Amino acid sequence: MIVEIEGVRKVYQSPDGEIGALQDISFSIEEGEFISIVGPSGCGKSTLLSIIAGLEKPSAGVIRVDGEKSRGVNPKIGYMPQKDELFPWRTIWQNVTLGLEVHRQMDQEHQAFVRRLLARYGLAQFMDCVPSQLSGGMRQRCALIRTLATGPRILLLDEPFSALDYQTRLSVAGDIHRIIRQEGKTAILVTHDISEAVSMSDRVAVLSARPGKLKCIQDLSELHALSPMRRREHAHFHRYFNDIWKELELCG
Ligand code: ADP
Ligand code: MG
Repeated sequence: MIVEIEGVRKVYQSPDGEIGALQDISFSIEEGEFISIVGPSGCGKSTLLSIIAGLEKPSAGVIRVDGEKSRGVNPKIGYMPQKDELFPWRTIWQNVTLGLEVHRQMDQEHQAFVRRLLARYGLAQFMDCVPSQLSGGMRQRCALIRTLATGPRILLLDEPFSALDYQTRLSVAGDIHRIIRQEGKTAILVTHDISEAVSMSDRVAVLSARPGKLKCIQDLSELHALSPMRRREHAHFHRYFNDIWKELELCG
């Protein structure tokens, strides 16, 4: 188990009193697995991801990464937050190497690694451009490369495609899925889009409405070898979609 989530609860304090965001969440993620978390808006998906990232403390429960209790930010984890903007005044190169700069890892080896990622994913000739010169899908790939640059083994992605139009979304989801598989990463994706979850993941965890409780986990591992596009054509795609939809409806 690369990530273990055990009895996690989160209560926020607000001027109107306490807000229960998560309740008794427990599940584990295996190395190399792609898991999605779906649930109604406000059920605590982003909260859970930022707790796994070590940016927020749970009110109760523990997160273990590689068997070790998590204490704050962990270099094994790369986190793409929901509002992940590239800096408009920095070039693509300056954006994708930002993490290296912050972690003082701007050595030849890391720079060469980022150059390879840019080349492999079709962005090498845009290194000196600024983000506004790129399409939405290209910017999303940059954000992912920036997250991969520091070499995390686990990627946390919070609704990474929500700002894209439908067609771009399909192709970028395909790209990002391929990059994550090729780089052999473990991924946890938060989305409110069931189709997206079914098209990309080995398992889907369904959270109920606030405070988010773990409703069920759907196993889709029979689709593991297929690309997101191929999965959408798979005979069982709609069955999985309907099963998850029913669970979500029951969450009310
Ligand atoms: P989701 O990502 O599933 O839409 P969030 O994790 O963002 O949900 O939020 C879960 C609940 O916790 C929401 O009701 C939200 O308003 C509340 N919440 C999130 N962050 C804070 C915070 N920093 N302070 C108070 N309440 C918060
Ligand atoms: Mg959210």
